Amino acid sequence: MAQPIAVSKGVRRAVRIDEGLSEVSTEEMYREILSRLGEDPSRDGLLATPQRVEKSMAFLTKGYQEDPGKILRGAMFDVDYDEMVIVKDIEMFSLCEHHMLPFFGKVHVAYIPNGKVIGLSKIARLVEVFARRLQVQERLTRQIADTIQEAIAPQGVGVVIEARHLCMMMRGIEKQRSSTVTSAMVGCFRQKETRLEFLSLVRQPGASAL
Ligand code: ZN
Repeated sequence: MAQPIAVSKGVRRAVRIDEGLSEVSTEEMYREILSRLGEDPSRDGLLATPQRVEKSMAFLTKGYQEDPGKILRGAMFDVDYDEMVIVKDIEMFSLCEHHMLPFFGKVHVAYIPNGKVIGLSKIARLVEVFARRLQVQERLTRQIADTIQEAIAPQGVGVVIEARHLCMMMRGIEKQRSSTVTSAMVGCFRQKETRLEFLSLVRQPGASAL
């Protein structure tokens, strides 16, 4: 039997682990959160909400169940090509780990091969795996670059993410128009010429403005 986590209104107390919170279903916890927000979880429109939120959160964080290295290992090809490979405007939706609110935008990935390339669709999959976790934009950017670097040891990798954060837009400083740009440059992308070539390719028409 699950312990009820609800306590009488207005009384807050920390639930100790040994009281069995782990046995409380996620659905029950969302029901409790709804009532703490001042809602009536038993009203019609909210009856199925805890269940829906549980499902939707599981989807939005499904990247924890996936191994990014494995996705790339299944799609590496030997090639004799040493020009820049660039995949731009990959749609990205993630949740910030500080507020669990969405941030979303575009990811641009480039690398210069050193004997091996990755199937293009796998780069979008890789973005998805890391984005479907609680994130900060800087780490997301870095993880994409590092995973590609580790998988195919190219001459270099560049990743740029432009995103808008609902935690900034809906609350706090409410800078509704601002977007945040982060980049991670590895290997030859640390050299000015390569980096500038990448950035100019990203900015060519076709890259939709946020
Ligand atoms: Zn945030």
